[in-house]
Amino acid sequence: MISWPDIDCILLDMDGTLLDKHFDDYFWEELVPQKFAAKNDLPMDEAKKRLFAAYKAQERTLNWTDVDYWSGQLNLDIVAMKEEICDLVKVSPGAECFLQFLQRQGKTIVLVTNAHPKTMQIKLRRTPLIPYFTAMISSSEIGAPKEAIEFWREAEQRLKFDKGRTLFIDDNEAVLYTADRFGIKLLFHKNGDGGCKSHAGQKRFPSFSDFNDLYP
Ligand SMILES: [Mg+2]
Repeated sequence: MISWPDIDCILLDMDGTLLDKHFDDYFWEELVPQKFAAKNDLPMDEAKKRLFAAYKAQERTLNWTDVDYWSGQLNLDIVAMKEEICDLVKVSPGAECFLQFLQRQGKTIVLVTNAHPKTMQIKLRRTPLIPYFTAMISSSEIGAPKEAIEFWREAEQRLKFDKGRTLFIDDNEAVLYTADRFGIKLLFHKNGDGGCKSHAGQKRFPSFSDFNDLYP
């Protein structure tokens, strides 16, 4: 259980943490390959092979979430395609009640995401979450992804949070390792499958799947 009086600021990831991951999985693994295959007259398995290699090459970079980069690269209107499936945007179970709990406790609540501002807009306006945030930060505004220590230095400058009194929750362990290296006091891994992943030789972060388990 988290010692809430010791925490002032809560930093929360968007995709796979506050929002269900289904939208992104379906978008990148199904919809984009379908449209890319149709556009280039390719069989679906060949389209997927080429796309997944292209995705992999941009992992942990700002391009990975840059809708304009992918629109140019793939010659597809990525923003319009996201709008097309915006009904798939879903808030993770218990996430809004958790935000209400934090608000009642007077905590500072900040969204920190690698998602592009255009993606943030498409998704968040389909949810009731925006009013809960004191601030929202996209890594593309900062100029570095959350996997880079520069992101955290700049975020600290802008938000003036005390990293010794901050909790950060993300579903991406690579991001949690960087936040740990930067010195954020409390780190939780949002794990969709409810299990606890182990990484040989690497630190494990406390893991949860249900926001209700984080507060009384
Ligand atoms: Mg995430």
